Amino acid sequence: MSRSTDLLAEARAFIPGGVNSPVRAFNAVDGDPPFIASAKGCWLTDEDGHRYLDLINSWGPTILGHANPVVVQAICETAAKGTSFGAPTAGEVEFAAALCEAHPTLDMVRLCSSGTEATMHAIRLARGFTGRDQIIKIDGCYHGAHDSVLVKAGSGVATFAAPGSPGIPAATAGLTLTAPFNDLDAIAAHLATHAVAAVILEAVPGNMGCIDPVEGYFSGLSALCREHGALLIIDEVMTGFRLALGGACERFSIDADLVTLGKVVGGGLPLAAFGGRREVMSCLSPEGPVYQAGTLSGNPLAVQAGLATLRQLTPAVYTRLEEIGAAVEAGLRPAVEAAGCSMTRVGSMFTIFFRSTPPTCFSEVSECDMAAFGRFHRAALEAGVYLPPSQYEAAFLAATLTESELSHLINGLNAALASEPATAT
Ligand SMILES: *Cc1c(COP(=O)(O)O)cnc(C)c1O
Repeated sequence: MSRSTDLLAEARAFIPGGVNSPVRAFNAVDGDPPFIASAKGCWLTDEDGHRYLDLINSWGPTILGHANPVVVQAICETAAKGTSFGAPTAGEVEFAAALCEAHPTLDMVRLCSSGTEATMHAIRLARGFTGRDQIIKIDGCYHGAHDSVLVKAGSGVATFAAPGSPGIPAATAGLTLTAPFNDLDAIAAHLATHAVAAVILEAVPGNMGCIDPVEGYFSGLSALCREHGALLIIDEVMTGFRLALGGACERFSIDADLVTLGKVVGGGLPLAAFGGRREVMSCLSPEGPVYQAGTLSGNPLAVQAGLATLRQLTPAVYTRLEEIGAAVEAGLRPAVEAAGCSMTRVGSMFTIFFRSTPPTCFSEVSECDMAAFGRFHRAALEAGVYLPPSQYEAAFLAATLTESELSHLINGLNAALASEPATAT
């Protein structure tokens, strides 16, 4: 028995399923998750002393690697001055200004503590601003675990084969319309027949595996939203500060009304944000009537971890992330094709799909050979590479990957692919 196995058994007695977020379980790949003892740079060390090159990176945040010295120092120095006041601080002002400077959509921003909160509040704000109740979301896009968006939500919900979740009132779910990714006609049809407050989507979905947007999708979406008086909310919790300093909105020149940020923006601490056009943000309490609040919002530790991360995100980091992404793609593609699989990559996000052509929407991801993915995942773990334990997730690269770490990653995944007979459809 390993220590991770013992811990999992004990965890299951006290925590449902033994995990504090379902995606951490290895149910979909028929295994048990290693319990992580520590991490440094690109490497995780588990409770049994095994080391893995990390391609989850806390599901995105640790873009500068684990225990980044500048971030750790900022957290330690801040902690000594008190960890939470429930009152305004100078750090929040500096951080909000930096976010508005970095992201093209942001005139104003409000901080909160998780991506779930950010999208929940952005949707309420859009409803309050437009005076409309209905929203449109995209099949397979994940926006956190609150009622309005836990409908065809990809990621963990898809991994555990639930169409949504019990406990969500039908009346709430009924206000959420859905459309396939990359399909403008479906959006146009909803907008023509319903009073829609907002369309919310991930610009590059990472929660059904990494999916490429088709040419013209975003300009079409913003034109449709404008025509029908709906707001366009781009959920950049995953893509913000990952695909560019200004996120997917900068990378694809998206004309959005509101964006949500999380993951990278908090430097590995619980921090998220939503923001956008001044006219819309001014509706938030106490400036306007739409209520939103949080005891730990703008928490000093999280703000300083975020600032310490942002200060290091120079143009050179994004150049390096592109180089690393291209090297990983070039290194894996021959083995991916030999195994009858396909691969998508946008910057430093990628997914190997057990399907011969890259999926363009959720229903195509669902056609993947999930059992083959599970075998691949186990083989990769044995080769010392820690991939997300579901076909419905993207892998994330850190900017600190060295040449020898890149070789370990590519050789490990190639060996795992080669151990899989080409059975994918
Ligand atoms: C992770 C994620 C969320 C939820 O963020 P939490 O901090 O886990 O609540 C929302 N939207 C997207 C696109 C995400 O990737």
